[in-house]
Amino acid sequence: MKRILITGAAGFIGSHLCDRFISEGYHVIGMDNLITGDLKNIQHLFGNEFFEFYHHDITKFVFVPGSLDYILHFASPASPIDYLKIPIQTLKVGSLGTHNLLGLARVKNARILIASTSEVYGDPLVHPQTEEYYGNVNTIGPRGVYDEAKRFQESLTMAYHTFHNLETRIVRIFNTYGPRMRLNDGRVIPAFIGQVLRGEPLTIFGDGNQTRSFCYIDDQVEGIYRLLLSDYHLPVNIGNPDEITIKDFAQEIISLSGASKDIVFKELPENDPMQRCPNIDRAKTLLDWTPKVGRAEGMMKTYNYFKDFTNEELLKEEH
Ligand code: NAD
Ligand code: UDP
Repeated sequence: MKRILITGAAGFIGSHLCDRFISEGYHVIGMDNLITGDLKNIQHLFGNEFFEFYHHDITKFVFVPGSLDYILHFASPASPIDYLKIPIQTLKVGSLGTHNLLGLARVKNARILIASTSEVYGDPLVHPQTEEYYGNVNTIGPRGVYDEAKRFQESLTMAYHTFHNLETRIVRIFNTYGPRMRLNDGRVIPAFIGQVLRGEPLTIFGDGNQTRSFCYIDDQVEGIYRLLLSDYHLPVNIGNPDEITIKDFAQEIISLSGASKDIVFKELPENDPMQRCPNIDRAKTLLDWTPKVGRAEGMMKTYNYFKDFTNEELLKEEH
């Protein structure tokens, strides 16, 4: 039985990866310090003899008993309000945490895949973004703590690949959504759905003409799974190229809820990218991967997940 370590296991993407690798017959070791994650995302796995969980901060020395075949490194705050609130931890998990995981991969002779992000392209001047684009990041801006940690993470990973011959994979994830996102994490999809369910106006930042391209979690997990098992070590974009303005997206969510809602415009956060859309030719060619779940279907599933929340859960303050 193959053994895989997944960091960030109690988070949104990490918990879905745990499910996928359990269903593929792996022995899964989850690790998380719960700074933005929640045990409820993986509690259904606790009775499973092929699942273990370590409550651990990966910026500290990481020890895992036994052999490891693979490591998926997904620990990191991912929502802008999270990494603005905990900027130093964000820098540390991307740098020190990644260093610990690469060291562990070396000792265990394991293949490691690290979760990078479309944010390495910053506020992109090339559109759609190909993997060759170097990006446009403000190192000292509010988002720099996340973007630069992820850029450093990629450099460190490549250095381990070339210097230590480590088997490495780099996925550049574009905005991904689905069940188990935190309702109050500030990202636009849970923010809008929460507002609709609480009967509040939707908050559009700026004029709403900025674009994003949203990928459903099942497609993202499939792309990551294929990349891990591929023999390709350079970065690969995984995302859905169906691009939409935030203004139009707000209207889609209002229609989905079936009730009329107001919209209020708020100040655009500093360095908020104006456009974002992946070029996925590399993933198509190398992994034979394309996203299968359209926004209408994915948003319906996501909305249905949050629809059953109690009033108390809907009103819960950000932790
Ligand atoms: P998330 O916040 O739901 O999950 C991140 C998990 O990492 C949380 O459970 C958190 O507690 C854990 N964590 C953070 N710091 C840690 C530390 N020092 N030690 C141990 N655990 C720690 O976020 P997510 O959306 O699931 O993102 C997962 C990964 O994917 C992140 O690396 C993120 O940068 C990347 N990513 C996500 C998206 C997206 O759209 N969701 C886009 C690009 C990249
Ligand atoms: N956004 C918005 N209203 C909100 C939350 C976010 O208009 O209540 C905007 C945000 O400014 C950004 C886009 O939605 O332009 C996506 O934001 P998110 O935080 O989901 O992800 P990211 O900016 O990291 O892509």
